[in-house]
Amino acid sequence: MIRATTIREVREAVQQARREGKSIGFVPTMGYLHDGHLRLVDTARRENGLVVASVFVNPLQFGPNEDLQRYPRDLERDAHLLMQHRCDVLFAPSVEEMYPRPMETVVDVARLGQPLCGRSRPTHFRGVATVVAKLFHIVGPDRAYFGRKDGQQVAVIRRMVEDLNFPVEIVDVPTVREPDGLALSSRNVYLTPEERAHATVLYRALQWARGRILEGVRSGPELARGMAEIIGAEPGVRMDYAEVVHTDTLEPLEHLEGRVMLAVAAYVGKARLIDNLQLTIRGDEVLE
Ligand code: AMP
Repeated sequence: MIRATTIREVREAVQQARREGKSIGFVPTMGYLHDGHLRLVDTARRENGLVVASVFVNPLQFGPNEDLQRYPRDLERDAHLLMQHRCDVLFAPSVEEMYPRPMETVVDVARLGQPLCGRSRPTHFRGVATVVAKLFHIVGPDRAYFGRKDGQQVAVIRRMVEDLNFPVEIVDVPTVREPDGLALSSRNVYLTPEERAHATVLYRALQWARGRILEGVRSGPELARGMAEIIGAEPGVRMDYAEVVHTDTLEPLEHLEGRVMLAVAAYVGKARLIDNLQLTIRGDEVLE
């Protein structure tokens, strides 16, 4: 595995692979890798000749009072895991390499960045879209892999790619969970054992809503209210939102039809956790 820290190094590795006729798969991450990230790498490995993963804790996507300083980091462990999963290039740039001077140019996917997580993190998706645009220009992948766990992020990136004509296929990969349903997240390390137990309420709320949908409920507000009640009743958990939206437009749905995302977020101890469930509904039919 090539370990690149500069833009020049990663471009050279990609150009060499292109000369060999290989397709390029790219997995952007903030590191502290877990099986969710590695599922993206495995998927990219199956579908591409060269796999590039980036590890970069992007300051631009953190708000002033968020966890940028204490975000977990372990680059040596990440490198080892990526090697085991047959990644070809690890791109781990410094903040100075990515942002040699303050950014004058940003990418703002205006409306899609505002609802859901955008309400408590108003500059977050601008930071995400900007760094992903930079990384796409640096790596030049054919396909880029994102976790469905961050459903709003996938919607924002897909729209950016469409609006700005990036020649990249966005592949979303199903959420990897612990046996009790908790979605894997680098931020789960913030949880005490007690908080860890309460954190499963996000998954339990989503599963409750899924059950109601399978029983025939199609009212978005009814399902959102029910999920909010379940999360609100959990000790040690402060709900941020519980919503039922269209998977691509993120607009709240009165009536469930088409691509539907049930999305939840809550503060548990020091962590802010998110989760979602995506379904396609055609009348009585529910596709998972
Ligand atoms: P992060 O390092 O948290 O920025 O995540 C990097 C990528 O991994 C993003 O595309 C995430 O959506 C994805 N990811 C994070 N957790 C999971 C998970 N539990 N299952 C699948 N993908 C995930």
